[in-house]
Amino acid sequence: MADAFFQPISGMELPRFAGIPTFMRLPHVPEGHPRERDVQIGLLGLPWDGGTSNRPGPRHGPRQIRDYSTMIRAQHPVTGLRPFEAANCADLGDVGPNPVDGPDTLDRFERAFASLKAKGIRPLSAGGDHLCTFPVLRGIARAAPLGLVHFDSHTDLFPAYFGGKTLTHGNPFRNAVEEELLDPKRMIQIGIRGTMYDSADRDFAKAHGIRIVTIEELFARGIADVMAEAREIVGTKPAYMSYDIDFVDPSVAPGTGTPEWGGPNAYQAMQVVRECAGLNIVGADMVEVSPPVDPTGGTAWLAASLMFEMLCVMVAAL
Ligand code: MN
Ligand code: MN
Repeated sequence: MADAFFQPISGMELPRFAGIPTFMRLPHVPEGHPRERDVQIGLLGLPWDGGTSNRPGPRHGPRQIRDYSTMIRAQHPVTGLRPFEAANCADLGDVGPNPVDGPDTLDRFERAFASLKAKGIRPLSAGGDHLCTFPVLRGIARAAPLGLVHFDSHTDLFPAYFGGKTLTHGNPFRNAVEEELLDPKRMIQIGIRGTMYDSADRDFAKAHGIRIVTIEELFARGIADVMAEAREIVGTKPAYMSYDIDFVDPSVAPGTGTPEWGGPNAYQAMQVVRECAGLNIVGADMVEVSPPVDPTGGTAWLAASLMFEMLCVMVAAL
């Protein structure tokens, strides 16, 4: 049970448009805070988009998601779970990137997440582009590879872009498999669609036994059936959840750098997360929210709502 310190500010006490916007109005517990040792799930921002190969902007994601997340209330509408009473959750702030030095940023992120793991804090982060997930996994999965539930319109399993070994948001999961941070046999990627450079990502998946569920298969079989398979593949051992907002159709979530048409609606976007109940999710992220290309801010509000769904799955796994 969470104690009084870790309760979000209620909209019954202070209107939700007022006050300083932390994630879901939780207390801000920066590194070194006296209550840091009691945090079970830490929400934090990774404001960096140095891995973006097309339209930049997700560096501005965490701030806008924080702002919209003040709309979140205390109780899940379907399960009745009150996550902030069930676990000590806090906003840990942002991990500061070096916007002009990618490798330095990757090191900073990895160190920050290794430190959280050492303190027993499970991370739920808001990106940032999808390359952010790679140093997170380096920070928390070096001891034992994790399973993965991955919602995205792209596999992010591509070889290096632009020659050499260049890390981008198109290859975090290929690199994570190669570094044995993820167990490819316990990985599932859902929602894959859009035009392709070639089949190099699919070939990599096939060679390593990674399950890819295209959007065509998701809609043909239905969400409940596909997610039952996801739970079977990922199993009950520790797993990570990574949610690229471009999984959702761009008519609903236009604020992202590489949108692909023909995706799920907002209800389906939440449903896939609810169907992860029972998985042992030890860390999760919401990435690729790009306020500069979002005319309404609605993408960040959906992202905040999805983070609440993810948080509820994480709390149930504690
Ligand atoms: Mn992605
Ligand atoms: Mn994507």
